[in-house]
Amino acid sequence: PGGRPDLVVVGSGFFGLTVAETAARRYGKRVLVLERRDHLGGNAWSEPDPETGIEVHRYGAHLFHTSNERVWQYAQRFTSFTSYRHHVHSVHNGRTYAMPINLGTICAFFGRHLSPDEARALIAEQAAEMAGREPANLEEKAISLIGRPLYEAFIRGYTAKQWQTDPKELGADIITRLPVRYTFDSRYFADTYEGLPTDGYAAWLERMAAPDLIRVELGTDYFQVRDRLPQGVPVVYTGPLDRYFDHAEGRLSWRTLDFQREVLPIRDFQGTPVMNYADEDVPWTRIHEFRHFHPERDYPTDRTVIVREYSRAAESGDEPYYPINTAQDRDILKRYRKLAAAERNVYFGGRLGTYQYLDMHMAIASALSLVENHLAQRWDAAAPAPRPRRIRGA
Ligand code: FAD
Ligand code: UDP
Repeated sequence: PGGRPDLVVVGSGFFGLTVAETAARRYGKRVLVLERRDHLGGNAWSEPDPETGIEVHRYGAHLFHTSNERVWQYAQRFTSFTSYRHHVHSVHNGRTYAMPINLGTICAFFGRHLSPDEARALIAEQAAEMAGREPANLEEKAISLIGRPLYEAFIRGYTAKQWQTDPKELGADIITRLPVRYTFDSRYFADTYEGLPTDGYAAWLERMAAPDLIRVELGTDYFQVRDRLPQGVPVVYTGPLDRYFDHAEGRLSWRTLDFQREVLPIRDFQGTPVMNYADEDVPWTRIHEFRHFHPERDYPTDRTVIVREYSRAAESGDEPYYPINTAQDRDILKRYRKLAAAERNVYFGGRLGTYQYLDMHMAIASALSLVENHLAQRWDAAAPAPRPRRIRGA
């Protein structure tokens, strides 16, 4: 379908594709999706490793989980899910522990059998320095939750490697993403629904882009073509917010990741999908072994693929992965939000477009709400006079 689009979407990640799919299927709109990369799907994209056929997530491991019924139903339109449940372990001082911190971790770390109440009492003692004080940063928040010894073992070094920022400078909210449990439940996520797309992320994402009303142009940077786009067509922009305004208010800071992939001539390297490395003398933050994400698949038994993950501050040209969100960033962000609000025809969304860490389910939920609460109203207003029946039934 050529011709004039009703909507231009910049970026084909979960946010952009959810907008495009909903606009096309539910509202009958013609959508042009522009994607700078040579594949669609944004950071959730994955592909079979050429040497082993094992599905590797090119931009870091992506685990789907949600408690949002609507998002879960929406996702089922495009894919079924495996019964995968995420578990993580962490290496500290040559020993292995379950993550996030749970009763099993606490018992193993202190070398004792403890009941939930005994463990609570022990941690309260070890967090005494924070008693009656409101935690002001990540370090204080972590100590208030798990006490100093566990903080120093599992959080301080890992966080320093991941953020290259003093934990005292980081927001307390980062650490509240990790639960602390006084049971032996070691599941990483506490959401109602969890699983991995049965035939992979690429298949899921491609099905979202399949409606005839959607045209995806790969290898196309919005800023290179925007002068040639038809006038007056609304744009949903999911690229970096500061880039849209030519960095006029300064650069928002991001963390990037470097991935080092290695194929090993063995069946199993670590016996689990993700092993965190808590200590600062190990340069990587974690190792992913992708075969373990799909134990149900028929993968080769003589080879495995592992990916070491390293974290550092992004420079221009690097992929922006996680907003660092320092006080200065928040200041700059305020100014960009003002500029964004003044752009009548452009809607900013997604992780990059709002400078916000969003899980996939959050990106999908917020894209659905953009279409329903903003774009649909715009289309309704432009439509011919409403039919009288509708008004009576309303
Ligand atoms: P993206 O997926 O980043 O898509 C944006 C797209 O816009 C990209 O394809 C980009 O190429 C394109 N683009 C940018 N600028 C332009 C331009 N000028 N012209 C054309 N195209 C442009 N979520 C989970 O739920 N579970 C996880 O386990 C998980 N793990 C993650 C691990 C990492 C390392 C990262 C970085 C994220 C993870 N996420 C996870 C989050 C998940 O990736 C996001 O929720 C999802 O990618 C959000 O989609 P998006 O569309 O907002 O952004
Ligand atoms: N974290 C940590 N040790 C771990 C795992 C996580 O200190 O073994 C901290 C770290 O600061 C991290 C935060 O908890 O940034 C959130 O963890 P999550 O696994 O959600 O981080 P992500 O995988 O999204 O980077």
